[in-house]
Amino acid sequence: MNLFELTKNLMNIPSVSGDEQAVGFYLRDYLESLGWTVELQAVSANQNNVIAYLNDRPRVFLSTHIDTVPPFIAATEDDEKIYGRGACDAKGIIASQITAAEKLRAEGIADIGLLYTVEEETSSAGARSANLHPMAAKCEYLINGEPTDLDLAIGSKGTFRLKILTEGKAAHSAYPEMGESAVEKLLDILADVRRARFPNDEFFGETTVNIGTIEGGVALNVIPPRAEAGIAVRLTTPRASVEPMLEEIVKTRGTIEVLSCSEPIKMLAVEGFNQKTVRFTTDIPYLTNWGTPLLLGAGSILVAHTKDEFVLKKDLETAVELYVNLVKKLLG
Ligand SMILES: [Zn+2]
Repeated sequence: MNLFELTKNLMNIPSVSGDEQAVGFYLRDYLESLGWTVELQAVSANQNNVIAYLNDRPRVFLSTHIDTVPPFIAATEDDEKIYGRGACDAKGIIASQITAAEKLRAEGIADIGLLYTVEEETSSAGARSANLHPMAAKCEYLINGEPTDLDLAIGSKGTFRLKILTEGKAAHSAYPEMGESAVEKLLDILADVRRARFPNDEFFGETTVNIGTIEGGVALNVIPPRAEAGIAVRLTTPRASVEPMLEEIVKTRGTIEVLSCSEPIKMLAVEGFNQKTVRFTTDIPYLTNWGTPLLLGAGSILVAHTKDEFVLKKDLETAVELYVNLVKKLLG
C-alpha cells in the first residue's frame, strides 16, 4: 500500500485516546500481511500496544502513538496535503515509519522493529506498559516520531502538571467578615505564581507556566468556600528545582496536588540532520528501557491538536528517506 493510502486508512479509523482497539487490529493485520511478526500487548481490556519485528534481534525500533486527540476528523486531501485528525499526530508518521521499515527490509536490513503505543495524548499508559515488555531489552535505539518538521529533536521540555487548592469559609456575601474567600486566596497565590521567575536552561530554553483552569465558588451571594487552579509548567530544569519554589509561594495559603510530571530529556544528536529542541512532551520519558531515544517526524506541532491538522505529502516522503538514513547510521 502506498504511503498516502496507508496514512488515510489509518486516519479514517477513529482512535481517540481510550478507543484504540480497531486501529491496533488494523495495524496487526496489515503488518502480518507484509510478513512481520506482530504482538499485541494488552494495556487495558480494549487497548493494545502493537509491537512488530522481523527477527529475534531488533536493535532499532521506529515508534509513535496510535491514539489521537478528539474530535475525529476524516481524512481529505488535495495535491499537496492530507488533512484531518492524525495527519501529522501521528498517523502520517506511522505510515512513513512502516514505509521506511519496508524499504530497509527490501535492502536486507532486518534488525528493526516497530512499536506503537496507546494513550500518549493523555497518560502515556501505553508507553508505561511497553516499558515492561521484554522486547525493550533488545532495543538499542528508539526513534520516536512526533511532528518535528523533519528536524531531529535533541531535547524536549518536561511537563509538571499540578493543582493548587484553597479553602475558605462560606458566608452570606452581605456579611463577608463572617467568611473567608477561597477565590481571593487563590487569586493572590496565582498572582505570585505569575510574578515568579522559574529557572531557565541554556540548552532547553525558558521554563513557562500556564494557568490552564480555574474553578471555585458556589454562587454570587456566597463567600466561596473552595477554589482550585490547574497549572502546567513546561520544565527546562528538573522538577526538583521548581516544586520547592511553588511550595514557597503557596505556603500555608493552599495545598499543591501533583497530577503528573515528566522531566526534560535529551535525545541523541546525529550528524547530518537538522537539530533543535522542542517544547512538547512525548512518550520517550516513559520508554526508558528501550535504548537511546531519538525524535523525528513530519508535520508541525502547531497544527497538531487543531481542527486544521494537515501534513504535506512531500514531507511524508522526506520522512521516509530520513528514517531510512537514520536507521542505517544507527546500525552502522
Ligand atoms: Zn503526538
